[in-house]
Amino acid sequence: MQYVIIGNSAAGVSAAEVLRKADAECDITIVSEEEYRVYNRPLIARYMGGEIAEEKLWYRPDRFYEDKRIHLYKDTQAVRIDPKEKYIFLSNDDRLPYDRLLLATGAQPFVPPMEGLESHPNFHTFLELKDAKLVKESVSEETEAAILGAGLIGLEVAEELRHYTKQAVHVVELAPRLLPTICNTAASEILKQAMEAEGVVFHLENTVTRVEGSRLHLKDGTVLPSKVFIAAVGIRANVKLAQTAEIEINRGIVVNSRMETSASDIYAAGDVITTVDPVTGKPAAISLWSAAYAQGQCAGKNMAGQSTDYSPVPMVNDIAFFGVHVISALASNIEDPEARIYEQRWDDEYRRVAVKEGRLLGLLAISSGEKASGVTKKFRKALSEKSISQELLDDLLAVGE
Ligand SMILES: Cc1cc2nc3c(=O)[nH]c(=O)nc-3n(C[C@H](O)[C@H](O)[C@H](O)COP(=O)(O)OP(=O)(O)OC[C@H]3O[C@@H](n4cnc5c(N)ncnc54)[C@H](O)[C@@H]3O)c2cc1C
Repeated sequence: MQYVIIGNSAAGVSAAEVLRKADAECDITIVSEEEYRVYNRPLIARYMGGEIAEEKLWYRPDRFYEDKRIHLYKDTQAVRIDPKEKYIFLSNDDRLPYDRLLLATGAQPFVPPMEGLESHPNFHTFLELKDAKLVKESVSEETEAAILGAGLIGLEVAEELRHYTKQAVHVVELAPRLLPTICNTAASEILKQAMEAEGVVFHLENTVTRVEGSRLHLKDGTVLPSKVFIAAVGIRANVKLAQTAEIEINRGIVVNSRMETSASDIYAAGDVITTVDPVTGKPAAISLWSAAYAQGQCAGKNMAGQSTDYSPVPMVNDIAFFGVHVISALASNIEDPEARIYEQRWDDEYRRVAVKEGRLLGLLAISSGEKASGVTKKFRKALSEKSISQELLDDLLAVGE
């Protein structure tokens, strides 16, 4: 059996591991556009900021591919699929036959149109280790930095850049709050104040309308000098390759619970697929390392003939900036007129619980220090409960003194 996997990250590597375990004799090939062996993508900002050494980034040991007998094409793009003859065509002019193919091509950064962007001397997106290395090499104590986007990646990059530069780091965001898909106004305000105290300057409800060399012109007339300019406004599923095989796409690749696409013997997993939001029931992209890994495992099992369904488990996400934790689960900032919203604030601690018909719709907390790990535990417990009792609600809302 010949298995080909496109993408050498969480989803692709977990699938390859499952395939090797299931079948000691099969051929496994991974094709990767990137030049590195598999690394922990969520850590690249911490690496850029010098918090993590390069050795700590590698997700599997040096000998991983040799030990698992996986043939890895690095620095190579898969450019076209022929689903009838079952071939995949590579940028180096090789043509690989496959029996079963996995598309684990992840996501690509979205860059909104900005007049004059090409004139900026040091513009980056921030999705790959290559980007992290370029930014790391180009910053110093005197660097004036600007970031477009106050989402997870934008805020992480802002914090890490503050480790280098004595200058303020500017973050420009179209929405009126930070982490707009996770936070409500109250949570955002606490986080914003904490980050401002660390030298991050926010320009909310604003955007970059024009770039003139290293000068950024904002919508409100502000002009920001920026030796380095990073766009972190969001990602889009990387569906280019799937389109060459006319696979069904709805923003991301559409898969069933076995991770099968609309084309026979072609599977997809990770950030490239569209999944269903457990709360709203609408198509959604879940950009989480652990979800990509679990989907890759599921795809690998089905590719190996072990019929398995992927059932997403609601998870608690804990992200921290300058020691302030944003802990969230389900639709954390949901505004549903039929939902009951319970909130509690004490000092810089904040809790929000959204409940509808006795069912949890969303959990959100801002917490620091030892309290944060307690909140994560409580949220995990709440997700495992079938209904919300008053006792559980009181416990979730307790902010402590
Ligand atoms: C800075 C940053 C911080 C993050 N922080 C967190 C976090 O705290 N927690 C969390 O859960 N998640 C986090 N994420 C998200 C997480 O990294 C992703 O959800 C995860 O990497 C998705 O894995 P994947 O295997 O689907 O795809 P990806 O990791 O995107 O990998 C896809 C790979 O496929 C390659 N590829 C694409 N097209 C082709 C082609 N045609 N030919 C060959 N190769 C191709 C790409 O180059 C890439 O290497 C973060 C991401 C970033 C960038």
